[in-house]
Amino acid sequence: MPRPCKYRILNYKYNDLYFKPRGIPLSKIEEINLTFDELEAIRLADLLGLYHQSAAEMMNLSRQTFDNILIKAHYKIADFLINQKALKIEGGKIIMNERKFLCSDCNHVWTVPYGTRRPDKCPNCQKTNIHRHPDDRGYNRQNMHSLDRRRRRHGCANNQGR
Ligand SMILES: [Zn+2]
Repeated sequence: MPRPCKYRILNYKYNDLYFKPRGIPLSKIEEINLTFDELEAIRLADLLGLYHQSAAEMMNLSRQTFDNILIKAHYKIADFLINQKALKIEGGKIIMNERKFLCSDCNHVWTVPYGTRRPDKCPNCQKTNIHRHPDDRGYNRQNMHSLDRRRRRHGCANNQGR
């Protein structure tokens, strides 16, 4: 039985990236794949210095799973640096968190993914009197409900248990 798919939530928009040591042809280099969820764990724990429990909750993970992801990510980066491999950053069982907005003119409510630009105007009435939705405090129960809906709608893109 495959393990049930569990998305790791990202609060940052990452792009595919590729790093390699200078002066060594790519054909002679072993490639490491760092996934976006591993990079997000590094951002939260190492760059922002969050407690692992808080970081795990932001990513919709148990503390234990978060720690395992972080250990794996640290190992990959050490392997990349010390053994001069190539580092490809892409993929992972990920889903973007969403920000919810409310139009004060027409009461239209809509969401945009984290990491994208704040909308300039309401997509419904085109007015600019828009605000963050009062029940949108970043990662919360409301988001979890909409996440569950999206999960059912889209299924799981990357179902290999890792
Ligand atoms: Zn509006």
